[in-house]
Amino acid sequence: MEKTHENVKAFGWAARDTFGVLSPFNFSRRVTGEKDVQFKVVYCGICHTDLHQLKNEWSNSIYPMVPGHEVVGVVTEIGTKVEKFKIGDKVGVGGLVESCRKCENCDNDLENYCRDQIMTYNGVYTDGTTTYGGYSDIMVTNEHYVVHWPENLPMEAAPLLCAGITIYSPLKYFGLDKPGMHIGVVGLGGLGHMAVKFAKVFGTKVTVISTSLSKKDEAIEHLGADSFLVSRDPDQMQGAAGSLDGIIDTVSVIHPLLPLINLLKTRGKLAMLGAPEKPLELPVFPLLLGRKLVAGSFIGGMKETQEMVDFAAKHSITPDVEVVPMDYVNTAFERLLKSNVKYRFVLDIGNTLNKN
Ligand code: NAP
Repeated sequence: MEKTHENVKAFGWAARDTFGVLSPFNFSRRVTGEKDVQFKVVYCGICHTDLHQLKNEWSNSIYPMVPGHEVVGVVTEIGTKVEKFKIGDKVGVGGLVESCRKCENCDNDLENYCRDQIMTYNGVYTDGTTTYGGYSDIMVTNEHYVVHWPENLPMEAAPLLCAGITIYSPLKYFGLDKPGMHIGVVGLGGLGHMAVKFAKVFGTKVTVISTSLSKKDEAIEHLGADSFLVSRDPDQMQGAAGSLDGIIDTVSVIHPLLPLINLLKTRGKLAMLGAPEKPLELPVFPLLLGRKLVAGSFIGGMKETQEMVDFAAKHSITPDVEVVPMDYVNTAFERLLKSNVKYRFVLDIGNTLNKN
């Protein structure tokens, strides 16, 4: 039988089944432990992962489910052994709330690749309880998985905690952050628009690769991309063959990889970040003939997440968000499914999560 906490009352919005419709939900959180930080949630971003999870597209969903892993709030209570935070601090929590802390990955600040990592929601915590995310009034999190939120960063920029780090980490790790490089960004959504912003600050040339022309003007005039390709136009794609040092692929559904691999220069790298529910077809010959690399990347470790948030604050990199009230969440998901948001919904939990 599922374990629950008895002590700290919490309130949020949850889905009860694979229809993924959210509605008010009373639950409880653990009492603040000695290394825990309790905080009041102020904003929480809506990631496409929430949509995959709500609808059980990855076949691992636990219901009731309180999503939310782009969470920014203010500390209300700290445990006796907390060292990094004090009451009143602005804090953020992303996709992770626990890991084993003794494996090679954890030792190397790569908690995101720990085999025993526990996700912020839709996970089972060390005490056997289900983890619930940031579409809720309060959270209790071990301080190791909490980042300091810089004073000059608006709290609405919560999507940095997933969309931001998911982009920053592979751009750095795969060496796609060198000035003068030419980077492609596939899918101009929550992750994709952050990729354009980080890649431009790193000094690279950026080409957006999108399914239609509809986002072209925005991509170039507003986000600062240098050029734009329509992925469904074979002539345009052929015309740009062999031009990119690296590609950040953020597409959430099955799509062909061959046209993307063809865009890469010799030794080019295709970083897969989107998580479609079914496997993609990988053509091997074009990889062999160009010594090309196809790889994946998953959010980032805690040290790098803090580094990314500080970097974003320093360079004024913030997501473009549409802040919406809690009771708009189901409409927001319908719109997200149609890519009808520029470019991330953020729930105004602090002002609109009303219990009555
Ligand atoms: P999003 O805001 O919905 O953006 C996805 C974009 O994909 C859309 O804006 C659209 O861009 C493009 N797209 C949609 N349908 C398409 C189709 N049929 N063919 C080609 N392109 C299509 O989603 P997101 O929040 O950025 O998340 C994207 C993916 O990354 C999701 O699968 C999510 O689960 C995953 N994710 C992974 C990590 C990680 O650590 N690796 C972290 C967070 C999220 P255009 O309109 O420009 O075509």
